[in-house]
Amino acid sequence: MTETAFTETEERAALRAAVAKLAGGYGRDYFVQQARSGGKTTDLWLEIGRHGYLGVNIPEEYGGGGGGIGDVAAVCEELAAKGCPLLMMVVSPAICGTVISRFGTAEQKQRWLPGIADGTQTMAFAITEPDAGTNSHNITTTARRDADGWVLKGRKIYISGVDEAANVLVVARAEDAKSGRLKPCLFVVPTDAEGFEYTPIPMEIVSPEQQFSVFIDDVRLPADALVGDEDAGLVQLFAGLNPERIMAASFSTGLARFALDKAVAYVKEREVFGAPIGSHQGLAHPLAQSKIEIELARLMTQKAAALYDAGDDAAAGEAANMAKYAAAEAACDAADRAVQAHGGNGITQEYGVAGLLVAARAGRIAPVSREMILNFVGMHSLGLPKSY
Ligand SMILES: Cc1cc2nc3c(=O)[nH]c(=O)nc-3n(C[C@H](O)[C@H](O)[C@H](O)COP(=O)(O)OP(=O)(O)OC[C@H]3O[C@@H](n4cnc5c(N)ncnc54)[C@H](O)[C@@H]3O)c2cc1C
Repeated sequence: MTETAFTETEERAALRAAVAKLAGGYGRDYFVQQARSGGKTTDLWLEIGRHGYLGVNIPEEYGGGGGGIGDVAAVCEELAAKGCPLLMMVVSPAICGTVISRFGTAEQKQRWLPGIADGTQTMAFAITEPDAGTNSHNITTTARRDADGWVLKGRKIYISGVDEAANVLVVARAEDAKSGRLKPCLFVVPTDAEGFEYTPIPMEIVSPEQQFSVFIDDVRLPADALVGDEDAGLVQLFAGLNPERIMAASFSTGLARFALDKAVAYVKEREVFGAPIGSHQGLAHPLAQSKIEIELARLMTQKAAALYDAGDDAAAGEAANMAKYAAAEAACDAADRAVQAHGGNGITQEYGVAGLLVAARAGRIAPVSREMILNFVGMHSLGLPKSY
């Protein structure tokens, strides 16, 4: 096959096929059963880790595959397309893996990356706070220096997968020694540290992965818990945001593909007026529309990943925001149309379609809301005045 600017490489296609095969062996029933019984997806997580798919973007010398964000995004999408959308893929290898690979010391990379790559030392990511919300510049979790290192204090909310993580990459503010101003810094905090507590938030998403309120009460950390340069916290943080958006977009396009596949299979079979309901344009057209919207979102996601992997952070930023927006919209519409196509069955647990609605909807809110993306595009792409 000849490769064009609009197709992925043969290696990427092979990676997708291998992940799809592996995920198909687990499938939606496994995922939902674990979610409803309070179980976890640890077996699937460790298996993708063992095959090298989880850490495909981590440098080879630290146990990864040496690939790019486009590779790990493909893994995330294929898992979701088989009904196993794993939010921790966005967080552990993509955000934390990227930040540590790019800014950690050799010793820090050796300590944390191999476990992120094979799935045995998952890392969660905590920036959101109850009072700051979308306005991350207002976070109040603080890092105070003491003789042995750092003391962290604060509170985080909606933090995914803390119960499954060995560590959490926490965004806190440290006092600048010269100016006294508070600047954002990144710290790796073990989930079993004294003073680190978390409680699950009951959510309506059908997923084994949960969100948590996190209480950080004078947690003591060694000096080398600080990742990278204390004066470049913001730059380092932003380095993790483009991968986050590209992964979130892939999570959404995967989910959208799964919803659409389910809807198409159903409308081909179900007959009400003596012909499959898919023969009515009232049902066929919205599904065709979803197909188009999903392919457009996938194309933009692949563009964002290609730009990021080529080192063009600025262009990747715009494309990643647009991809994430388009993918979340495509997923919401695909899930809604899949429910409609199933009629009453669309609301039953047996058919498992309505459960996709909330997961798809979360993509419009997290990790960055559609409004903040529109703010970004208005300001940076259109040159409009900042509106907030
Ligand atoms: C399933 C899920 C998993 C998550 N996992 C994590 C995680 O692992 N780690 C983590 O740190 N966080 C996580 N989050 C948090 C998530 O990133 C936040 O919920 C999100 O950033 C929005 O913040 P908020 O909920 O405080 O909403 P708010 O900031 O209160 O915003 C509420 C609404 O107001 C809108 N709004 C606010 N300001 C503006 C403005 N200037 N212009 C226009 N509209 C505006 C927002 O777009 C939103 O629609 C998760 C959230 C969910 C739902």
